[in-house]
Amino acid sequence: MQVRLFEAREVAGGASGRNGGFALRGGAMPYEHAWAGLWRLTELALDRIEQLAGDAFRRVGSLRLAGDAGERDLLARELELLREDGFDVEWVDPLPAPLGGLFAGAVLYPRDGALQPARWVQRLAARAAAAGAEIVEHTPVRIDELDASTVVVATDGLTAALLPELADHIETRRGQMLATEPLERRLFGRPHYARHGYDYWQQLPDGRLVVGGKRDASFETEATAREETTPLIQERLEALTVELVGELPRITHRWAGVWGETRDRLPLVGRVPGREHVWVAGGYSGHGNVLGFACGDLLAHAILGDSPPELDLFDPARLLTG
Ligand SMILES: Cc1cc2nc3c(=O)[nH]c(=O)nc-3n(C[C@H](O)[C@H](O)[C@H](O)COP(=O)(O)OP(=O)(O)OC[C@H]3O[C@@H](n4cnc5c(N)ncnc54)[C@H](O)[C@@H]3O)c2cc1C
Repeated sequence: MQVRLFEAREVAGGASGRNGGFALRGGAMPYEHAWAGLWRLTELALDRIEQLAGDAFRRVGSLRLAGDAGERDLLARELELLREDGFDVEWVDPLPAPLGGLFAGAVLYPRDGALQPARWVQRLAARAAAAGAEIVEHTPVRIDELDASTVVVATDGLTAALLPELADHIETRRGQMLATEPLERRLFGRPHYARHGYDYWQQLPDGRLVVGGKRDASFETEATAREETTPLIQERLEALTVELVGELPRITHRWAGVWGETRDRLPLVGRVPGREHVWVAGGYSGHGNVLGFACGDLLAHAILGDSPPELDLFDPARLLTG
């Protein structure tokens, strides 16, 4: 089978090169026993990423913080359920400064990690090219102009432009970020996220702080495919930076990217109903670094004729038929 990848911009030009670099297990939904299989799938994917990514991945764990008592209760319940199912998770008490005064509790997921996302995706693309895939950059395509027996649409937040029938099922969301100059002190040793994921930050190995989120300050304007920053969200990100650092360091970069969100927070991965030769993989709901990698692998197996049972969970037919 000959594989050709068309990319409208360049490899890592989309969300894969613009994201927060959190390499988290699981999906975007709160944990329940029913999701144990999904969580295990992503833990295996994390192990595989660690093998393939070289210095683009650091296994430093991640810290999830509760913004208020309600979220703390939710985290405590998740911790119980995860432990019952055999996953590594630790309650962090007391919280170190400056987190103690800002948050109501936290859990540590020791098996998570931090990615340099653009470098990771470029490495993955280099491996694909070495294995014989042809990568054609700066070439936007439409499905009907492709002469191929199998087409995979892997455009996450931009899926609706190619597959309009999925417009109501994979909705576009914008995320904004900023990066500071390198800080003199190491404040954060691992990715942190808080308030149900609406705030997230990590300090890079060179000392820079990368801060993202605050989408809940303006849901309406952030439901867009325009990869542009806005003053409102950037001001909120600056205010969060001040809370975390104690002052506003020089901001060196600001950017935005888009992802695809589904109502049940499960991605759509599989054959598109009504289009025999077209497959889709997208809708990771802001959680695609590990889940997207795992889903791509499952999809490749399915196209080659296997039937990985894990794919049943993500079958687009659950939304488009019945
Ligand atoms: C600001 C931000 C922060 C995030 N933080 C995290 C995080 O910390 N952890 C995490 O797990 N996830 C995070 N995500 C989500 C994650 O980035 C995505 O789920 C993931 O990158 C999706 O990968 P993908 O390859 O499916 O899609 P993308 O990386 O979006 O790639 C799709 C590509 O398709 C191309 N394309 C679109 N239309 C066409 C066309 N017609 N023809 C050819 N090419 C086309 C685009 O140019 C794009 O490069 C974040 C997303 C954003 C925007």
